[in-house]
Amino acid sequence: MMNNAKLFIVSAPSGCGKGTILNEVFKDRDVYYSISCTTRKPREFEVDGVNYFFITQEKFDEMAGNNEFLEYATFVGTSYGTPAKPVDDAIAQGKDALLEIETVGAALVKKARPDSVSIFILPPSVKELDRRLHKRATESDEVIVKRVSQAKAEIEKAYNYDYVIMNDALEEAVRDFELILSSVKNNDNKADQFKAENMKEKIEEVLKNA
Ligand code: 5GP
Repeated sequence: MMNNAKLFIVSAPSGCGKGTILNEVFKDRDVYYSISCTTRKPREFEVDGVNYFFITQEKFDEMAGNNEFLEYATFVGTSYGTPAKPVDDAIAQGKDALLEIETVGAALVKKARPDSVSIFILPPSVKELDRRLHKRATESDEVIVKRVSQAKAEIEKAYNYDYVIMNDALEEAVRDFELILSSVKNNDNKADQFKAENMKEKIEEVLKNA
């Protein structure tokens, strides 16, 4: 059966504004938005089964042992994993799927599914990330320090993604993201400016100001 469904992997350091971009880009698109399992506590406005499946470490380990995850990883001391079945079902039905996951998991998926398309969203600077995380205040100062240092390590992996965009101005980032999606679907080269190899200077600039 011909099936043009694509698996998109998106990574971005926390506080990068990726949630806002993705909501905007995918609000009118028919895509399966993967819901991950995590062992962290829900934030104030998060809903179980909507933002994440909030599960215990025991349950997480059991699912991992049963091979129920497409990938899983530990991020700042917390387990996160992508349930495989809903993603496989979506793709089998010809529907695009979107994973919003950190860099270790992204590399695992890219290896297991080489035809997936990975996109990294850069923050304008690491200082800006720090500012946004403090403003958002969903984590303690201690966790924010860890997340910012993690962000630097993650940005260094941006080179390994298929595409890289920068979230400086929201509208522009949304436009860039949409250009990548249409270019992938149409199999043309209109988004080549955002190929990781063409974004090297931007990545270096963000790292230099870290
Ligand atoms: P947060 O706690 O801020 O929701 O997420 C922390 C990090 O974990 C983010 O980079 C997010 O993309 C990533 N993440 C969320 N779900 C998954 C998952 O299923 N697998 C992996 N590897 N990372 C995930």
